[in-house]
Amino acid sequence: MKLLVATSKTQGARENDFTHCIEGELLWIAPCCDDGEESPDSECGCSRSFAGLNSHHGTTTALVAELPGFTFSDYTEALRSSLATQGWPAEAADEVAQGLLAFAAGWEVGTVLERRSEWFAERLVPTPPG
Ligand SMILES: [Zn+2]
Repeated sequence: MKLLVATSKTQGARENDFTHCIEGELLWIAPCCDDGEESPDSECGCSRSFAGLNSHHGTTTALVAELPGFTFSDYTEALRSSLATQGWPAEAADEVAQGLLAFAAGWEVGTVLERRSEWFAERLVPTPPG
């Protein structure tokens, strides 16, 4: 199944990029605060970032990855425990998982995505110099 994982690829393409996630950890698209809703360039950065299920930190770059052997119930379980730990309603896990899978399904594996509030776009990975 295709999922979003944290990546440092293309970090720095935007001046206000950040990644505080563990490389390769599962991500979800968390609701943002009022500041974030006003602008994806808000100081907190919540509406331009994806949130790590393990680190509970954010990253502005997400990689669409294929995780062989990973099942829907693995995914819901990972979401459930992460949501619960962070004080979100754990019973939302199924719905969140379905939403994220449907979202990831629309992109090619290997695509790096960025978020601008409710708008998502592919980042073109620059060719290394030389
Ligand atoms: Zn915020």
